[in-house]
Amino acid sequence: MKIAIIGGGIGGTATAHALLQKGFDVTIFEKAAAFGEVGAGVQITPNAVKALSGLGLADNLFESAFYPRAVTGRHWKTGSQNFRIDLGTEFREHYDAPFIHVHRADLLDVFVSALPSDVCRFNMACTGVEQTAHGARATFEDGSHFDADLVIGADGVRSVVRDSIFGSGNLRWTGHQCYRALIPTGGVVDYVAPESAFWMGPKAHVVTYYVKGGDAVNVVAVTEAAEWVDESWSTRASVDSMLSDFEGWHPDLQKLFSGVGEVFNWGLFDHDPMETWSKGAVTLLGDACHPMLPFLSQGAAMAIEDAYILAEALGQFPDDLAAALTAYEGERLPRTARVQLEARERGRSYHLPTEKEMAIRDAEYARRAKEDPRTTGINTDWVYDYDPRNFTVRAGELA
Ligand SMILES: Cc1cc2nc3c(=O)[nH]c(=O)nc-3n(C[C@H](O)[C@H](O)[C@H](O)COP(=O)(O)OP(=O)(O)OC[C@H]3O[C@@H](n4cnc5c(N)ncnc54)[C@H](O)[C@@H]3O)c2cc1C
Repeated sequence: MKIAIIGGGIGGTATAHALLQKGFDVTIFEKAAAFGEVGAGVQITPNAVKALSGLGLADNLFESAFYPRAVTGRHWKTGSQNFRIDLGTEFREHYDAPFIHVHRADLLDVFVSALPSDVCRFNMACTGVEQTAHGARATFEDGSHFDADLVIGADGVRSVVRDSIFGSGNLRWTGHQCYRALIPTGGVVDYVAPESAFWMGPKAHVVTYYVKGGDAVNVVAVTEAAEWVDESWSTRASVDSMLSDFEGWHPDLQKLFSGVGEVFNWGLFDHDPMETWSKGAVTLLGDACHPMLPFLSQGAAMAIEDAYILAEALGQFPDDLAAALTAYEGERLPRTARVQLEARERGRSYHLPTEKEMAIRDAEYARRAKEDPRTTGINTDWVYDYDPRNFTVRAGELA
């Protein structure tokens, strides 16, 4: 099967690797001149580590990983802890994988370095996709086209492939924007705990964690914004506006923010869950089909899981594309839809506007912690529990 992947981000490169392992003929078409990721961190949760293990790449990522000791929730002003999930041995054994923090460039590099050097054609901006008698055709800005048995749209939030197959207009401005910054600390410092820390305040929250083996702290500071903010790594923000938006927050955060050199503004968009991702010989993957708020730290994780499952499904039904795509969606769509919707819900519960509402939320976190510490706070037990390596489907089970 000849397969074209549109987009060489985390999802596209992971998929290329997974498909090449199954022996498919794969070409990536990337609009940029080279592979590249934004200069920020990414949290890799156990479910994504399991997908990476299934792809044979987890050990490569561990080399550059930072291992946080816990996921914690904290009060924006006092710093008091409202939930804590320890990430030690018991956690790793329970989920059969660790929780790690890496730089995004290191994550992308794990996939890219596993690919043959000629697998990607750069400077190829796709302008549309159409079905043909024997598959699908992707057309590019330079006027060229490429015919394949399957075209996979892994072209991100503003997917041209999605729009050309399913129509445009469903991308939703969520009313959230974030500041993103990477602050060099030269090692673990006393004002930043070696944790994935969620600082929750009125109509805003901040996430801090170490990357680059502990040499820098990644900050995502989210506020609510009435006006649409672009979604781009090229939109610089002023450090002053970041400091003024978080005035009065805990002194440790102020101290950390005072080390910010460059800060970028990022508008956050999502999409209602789609009913289907595939039509004929075209399917979607990653942010192209399930763009989500980053509040459960799952966008890249879902793209990597998608990559693994799509390759498994095509491997199980190499001569029946419709069956493979049905199996892929059957496994992936319900899970990613739940993650999309629960990430939206976290946008509400992390941003409660009054101390009274926060206290009620925190009491609920405490109640859940007593029942099972794994279900407290961000409540991601069901997310981390998933193991894509267990996926298997027989033709008779397909709807
Ligand atoms: C603030 C923030 C924090 C986040 N934190 C986390 C986290 O901790 N953990 C996590 O798992 N996820 C996180 N995410 C989500 C994660 O970044 C995305 O979900 C993930 O990068 C999606 O990968 P993708 O390959 O689907 O899309 P993208 O990374 O957007 O890649 C799409 C690729 O397609 C290319 N492309 C686009 N259009 C075209 C075209 N027309 N033709 C050819 N190529 C094209 C692009 O150049 C790009 O290379 C976060 C997101 C944000 C905004």
